[in-house]
Amino acid sequence: LPSQLVAAKPILDKINEAGYEAYFVGGCVRDMILEEPLHDVDIASSAYPEEIKAIFDKTVDTGIQHGTVMVLDHGEGYEITTFRTESTYTDFRRPDSVTFVRSLSEDLKRRDFTINAFALDADGRVIDLFDGLSDLKKKQIRAVGNPKERFTEDALRMMRAFRFASKLGFSIEEATLEALTALAPNLEKIAVERIQVEFEKLLMGQAAASALESMVSVGLFAYFPGTIGKEDGHFLEMAGWLAKKQPTSLPVVWTLYLATLPLSTGKRQEALRSWKLSRELMATVNRLAPMIAKRDELSVWDLYQVNDLADTFLEVLDLMGMEQSVHLSIKEKFAALPIHSAKDLAVNGGELIRSGFAKPGPALGRLLHEMEEAVVFGRLENTQKALFDFAKEAE
Ligand code: ATP
Ligand code: MG
Repeated sequence: LPSQLVAAKPILDKINEAGYEAYFVGGCVRDMILEEPLHDVDIASSAYPEEIKAIFDKTVDTGIQHGTVMVLDHGEGYEITTFRTESTYTDFRRPDSVTFVRSLSEDLKRRDFTINAFALDADGRVIDLFDGLSDLKKKQIRAVGNPKERFTEDALRMMRAFRFASKLGFSIEEATLEALTALAPNLEKIAVERIQVEFEKLLMGQAAASALESMVSVGLFAYFPGTIGKEDGHFLEMAGWLAKKQPTSLPVVWTLYLATLPLSTGKRQEALRSWKLSRELMATVNRLAPMIAKRDELSVWDLYQVNDLADTFLEVLDLMGMEQSVHLSIKEKFAALPIHSAKDLAVNGGELIRSGFAKPGPALGRLLHEMEEAVVFGRLENTQKALFDFAKEAE
């Protein structure tokens, strides 16, 4: 048993001793079987939330309306969710109601894919009601039950299918893939933020290239947010880039996706808004897009402008297959910048005024900017003396 599960076993034991069932469920059991590192340890139980709270001293109501209580134990928090079923999805996204049940099998039945529907009991026995173990062997993603029904209940599961395909390097089983093709338009009903999270995980996965190709083949992209950048060709291009290397951050994946398109500033802004990205991510993409467009003729000033994003920029250029020698020379130019921001200048506005080389006002701003440019281009040494001399001459 992985150490995180060993550490959490006393929780299962305590619930069992109180007369209820409790199991490890979901991703942690899948990852344990695959011998992959575990993220979060999720526990499901026949005990109702109030019953869980009666068993443990320290609990927090993290999602009581869904049946989730967090138990605090040896400095760790464990989410314990009451077995539940989800009934009548009328809007393709959220169950109209959650019903607590006492049966494990009912709870496992509502889960999305067979490899996500395992349970593990306190004695380390795997409960596999839907043949998930053989899907793990076949390296395939298969919906629990009737795939068309499952994707109709919750269209987000279609994104999740590709997300797990990418994360695990699995393919998607035939009937599941057929349902994806048939029901792709339902993705439009899903909130942008939820699509965004799954898409990000897909792009960060080890097998993003094949997951993207498979996604193109079922046409799911057509139902992505907004209207821009959704051409198959662009996703296939991305797949080509991601086939060689796995990206390391969200700024990298969004820049790769949205800053490599030939868009006007207005169109790019529209695309960024349609994805509801954070301000910070939007700013990164907006600043790097023009630099990517002119990547073969970047001036020192250009590099100075995006200096704080150098790592992201270099990673994107590398993923895009920039020739090594060109990539290296850009990297060296970043490193060789004489200053990295106006703050690095050897004098500041206050000093210039106090020394009598400038007066407060717009002229001072212009002077500082000229100094900054001259220093960045290497025409002016960044020392107090050289800068004062420069100011004297400018007077
Ligand atoms: P990760 O390691 O990436 O967190 P995970 O399997 O834990 O993977 P989560 O999104 O954290 O994935 O979900 C936890 C579990 O809840 C899943 O394994 C699955 O059993 C169930 N689940 C989550 N979302 C859905 C959904 N939309 N439909 C059905 N079951 C779901
Ligand atoms: Mg999880």
